[in-house]
Amino acid sequence: MGDFELPQSLHLALRGVRSVGVITGAGISAESGIPTYRGKGGIYDDPQEGDRTIEALSAHTLAADPDRTWRALFQIAGAAVAALPNEGHAAIAKIEDTADRFVLLTQNVDGLHRLAGSRNVIDIHGDAFEVICTVCGKANQFNDPRTGAMAPQRLDMQACMAAGKAPRCPCGGVYRPAVVLFGEMLPEDKIARLYAELLDSPPDLVISVGTSAMFPYIVQPMLVAASAGKLTIEINPEPTEISDFVAFHIKAKAGQALPAIAAALTDQHPEH
Ligand SMILES: [Zn+2]
Repeated sequence: MGDFELPQSLHLALRGVRSVGVITGAGISAESGIPTYRGKGGIYDDPQEGDRTIEALSAHTLAADPDRTWRALFQIAGAAVAALPNEGHAAIAKIEDTADRFVLLTQNVDGLHRLAGSRNVIDIHGDAFEVICTVCGKANQFNDPRTGAMAPQRLDMQACMAAGKAPRCPCGGVYRPAVVLFGEMLPEDKIARLYAELLDSPPDLVISVGTSAMFPYIVQPMLVAASAGKLTIEINPEPTEISDFVAFHIKAKAGQALPAIAAALTDQHPEH
């Protein structure tokens, strides 16, 4: 990190920041080796399914052929269990420790923020390690080998992947992944939290990291913060739809820029 310098004007702008919102997309996970969804080599560029992966990960395929949905899901979860949080994830958890108020909105379902120690997380697309029974509605989880805490009542991901079938609840019902599939609405409770924590009273600083898929729920918090006179930062090697109106566009990797921002915020809060 020593060789990455924030602009001096950003150092000055970070002074007095007490509340922080962070929004993350696939870019930060890519730095941990998780393939992004779209584009060549992405999850949707499956050699067997091709872009039919999107069809496999849809609500109607889950209803008609849950084994097919789960085979596509196992690919995502399999990439996640092989990955560990990087310095960007760690820096976000550190920023949460220094801030008086903090919220993290993520599009990622890989659990890397959870592993890095982030606590107040809105995982808007869900978590690939959680499941819900489509019959009795009970929730369950896959054992996450990265945490080392294995509970016998949870599902064994390796065994489920080897079987290549939809896992089942003790009641006999098929489990569905606790992620938002194509053709499904975003969960209302998470949208409500997004409004309460990012839009109704925007934090002093809002950072967008590694997200190029510009959904309204990404653009809006950045726009609202910028028009309320709050500090906005985009961290992305490439320009995006929001680059034109953010106060600072840092063309760098999350693992470079975020530790520098975390250090700047920590320096001015020596009590933490
Ligand atoms: Zn059940």
